[in-house]
Amino acid sequence: MTIRFDDRVAIVTGAGAGLGRQHALLLASRGAKVVVNDPGGSVEGVGGANAVADAVVAEIKAAGGQAVASYASVADEKAAQTIVDTAMNAFGRLDILVANAGVLRDKAFNNMSMEDFEFVMKVHLMGTVYCTKAAWPIMRERKYGRIVVTTSGSGTVGNFGQANYGAAKMALNGFINVMRTEGAKYNIMLNAISPSARTRMTETLLPEWVLNFMRPELVSPAVAYMASEQCTMSGEIISATAGSFSRVKYIQSEGVQFDPDQPVTPEMFEDNFDKIMDIGTPQPHGMSLQRLEARLRAMGKLK
Ligand code: NAD
Repeated sequence: MTIRFDDRVAIVTGAGAGLGRQHALLLASRGAKVVVNDPGGSVEGVGGANAVADAVVAEIKAAGGQAVASYASVADEKAAQTIVDTAMNAFGRLDILVANAGVLRDKAFNNMSMEDFEFVMKVHLMGTVYCTKAAWPIMRERKYGRIVVTTSGSGTVGNFGQANYGAAKMALNGFINVMRTEGAKYNIMLNAISPSARTRMTETLLPEWVLNFMRPELVSPAVAYMASEQCTMSGEIISATAGSFSRVKYIQSEGVQFDPDQPVTPEMFEDNFDKIMDIGTPQPHGMSLQRLEARLRAMGKLK
């Protein structure tokens, strides 16, 4: 079925460049009215220029779409509210939030200032939270919302020099995991994109042959799907790069079960370390009450 966004209004944060620009162009090309949010500035989040968002608005309009610019920073709660206000004032509704805005302040943790740590947390984590907070009552009231946050392998896999960024990106996975339970009743679905693409953020990090395949527009189809009516999943992470798409899930090992009525010692943990760590027969990670129940039954602890 063709995925369209006619009559839908979308905010894309950080839409002036890279991935956000592609997300905005794709949504607009399929009928969405888009708030192109971007204050401009460097990869580190220094400086700013209205021309960055204006250029994408002009591009959308030139292609026959509808868009307005917002130059507000997501990292400020009041400013984030104005992004949502821009959508309501210009288009009278809000259906989609793509929280994509991001910065980097990479350094080994030993050399990283707390200011750089907090700034990155503020843009990625709090920027997404502030925008969601402003959008939430509108989506709840209309009983419709699609929110796509932007996570990263830097959090789920780990990457040297990105303690601030990895922590912020991983926190977003926790955020949608909780919010999906709160949004379900109101048909608000929250999912995460975990992208890898050639942008100014990655330009110098990877070899040319691989960057050539990693066009940012190859990530946007997953974002558009997660922003659509067709999307009924929530709390999921989709990894996307160079035309490949996959689901990211946490797993846990089969592990061991000791008798909970007997003392359990650190030595018992050490003696069973290999078994605890072995993910040869992985289980989905979760609050495995059923698994615990089955094990305790097998041990004769529960009747
Ligand atoms: P980019 O630098 O090209 O785009 C990020 C945009 O966010 C910029 O236009 C910037 O001006 C804007 N921005 C920065 N601070 C902002 C703020 N406070 N408020 C609003 N907008 C702000 O980088 P990109 O690679 O397109 O990154 C987009 C998102 O994808 C980021 O969240 C990034 O962390 C994430 N990401 C990218 C990759 C990748 O491979 N490129 C990998 C994992 C995650």
